[in-house]
Amino acid sequence: MADYDYDLFVIGAGSGGVRAARLTALGGKRVAIAEEHRVGGTCVIRGCVPKKFMVMASEVSHALEIAEGYGWSFDNARFDWPTFLETKDVEIARLSGIYVANLGKAGVDLIHGRAVLRDAHTVAILGKGEDGADRIVTAERILIATGGRPWTPADLPGIEHAITSEEAFHLPELPKRILIAGGGYIAVEFAGIFAGLGVETTLVYRGPNILRGFDDDVRSHLAGEIEKRGIRVVLGCQHTTIEKTATGLLNTFGNGHEIETDVVMFATGREPHVKGLGLESAGVELNDSGAIRVDEFSKTTADNIWAVGDVTDRINLTPVAIREAVAFHETVYRDNPQRFDHEHVASAVFSQPPVGVVGLSEYEARQTLGGEIDVYLARFRPMKYAFTGSEERVLMKLVVEARTEKVVGVHIVGPEAPEMIQLAAIAVKAGLTKAQWDATCAVHPTMAEELVTMKDKQTPASVAVG
Ligand code: FAD
Repeated sequence: MADYDYDLFVIGAGSGGVRAARLTALGGKRVAIAEEHRVGGTCVIRGCVPKKFMVMASEVSHALEIAEGYGWSFDNARFDWPTFLETKDVEIARLSGIYVANLGKAGVDLIHGRAVLRDAHTVAILGKGEDGADRIVTAERILIATGGRPWTPADLPGIEHAITSEEAFHLPELPKRILIAGGGYIAVEFAGIFAGLGVETTLVYRGPNILRGFDDDVRSHLAGEIEKRGIRVVLGCQHTTIEKTATGLLNTFGNGHEIETDVVMFATGREPHVKGLGLESAGVELNDSGAIRVDEFSKTTADNIWAVGDVTDRINLTPVAIREAVAFHETVYRDNPQRFDHEHVASAVFSQPPVGVVGLSEYEARQTLGGEIDVYLARFRPMKYAFTGSEERVLMKLVVEARTEKVVGVHIVGPEAPEMIQLAAIAVKAGLTKAQWDATCAVHPTMAEELVTMKDKQTPASVAVG
């Protein structure tokens, strides 16, 4: 067998890459990992973690409003963006440092720099060799875990004036006005963040409603709720130009609408990070959507190369990248072939109010299960808000396959929905029936008790998609 520098070379020290590298090194293999930016990847540096800090910072304004309803009063409550940014960045640096330390403890060689494939067993780390030459490293196996990056319409006149989520984490100052283009979860989350921090926020989406792919009741309920929190939602509107003017950025849309703002953020999707990786020289093919083509074990079209996480564009979430990495490690290094099961993966949207979802939407259930579907739906004012007179409503929806009586979808919009859905996901994954949900005694007084007390079936709802 050829003598390689490493048993495994991992490209990308994000959620998937770090987990695979650590496990494999702890199993006694010689492992290196390359990272061109900061260890921790999207999740830790410019995704889930800093975003959640921003959500938590911005939710305080709502908590203060509620608190006033309970008799509290606050004089001069104010938010200081630079103080928040500094604290956030210290925490992100701490977390990234923990990732670096854990790689070191596991015996992984961390190589800072951009890695490019030269052939199926050779990686060049650009400019990191002697005298600025490329450093060349060989490995028996390679794992590509380079993640994704924001996609923006390059041909839109004025797009250079727009930022993406990457820059939103480092704005030098909070704008007075922001326009966010996009209707996916990142767009909706950032709209909530900025609105909560007092920024005049407009969300513009070209489709008929936000959160395409989610249950239609969730989409319409959330659109209404975020409007109650002061976000202006403009649908069916596509950018034609962005122009810098003396007073801000003028956005023009296909239907003749014009909106002036201070900052424009595009959250119009993400694309697999494959550009310039040298995939062709290693025999690694892409699929039709431009992601690395993998089989169910995450193996690419090259025999010794695997890929996990967002670069494969399956379900682009941190826990999924981690589980795919673990399955790769078990399959390749522990003689225990494992496919990560992409079914029933719960997810959350940290909008304000947030969303928690697991399983099928009503539309998907009707399309895929080929039989009758029962729907249970509740909208109510949570106790916490009823006391203060707030008009906010919670939505809870169960989608049940009538033939088997299994709960195949759970959809929640309301406070703590992400926490609730994690537990509901266990029941959905286990295939429990509505009767078994109902046999579970309620916890009172909570919002979640509604999940085990819903009795009335809905008549078939609209199943429109957009
Ligand atoms: P990444 O974490 O993206 O890591 C890839 C790494 O590879 C990066 O560090 C990159 O710099 C490096 N790299 C790329 N190319 C090279 C190269 N050639 N050489 C060296 N290094 C390279 N997921 C959730 O589960 N919950 C959330 O709430 C959530 N919120 C999000 C919010 C935002 C704004 C974004 C953008 C994403 C969010 N995600 C969330 C998604 C989550 O961050 C990703 O699914 C996850 O990070 C994917 O992990 P990964 O290992 O595939 O790639």
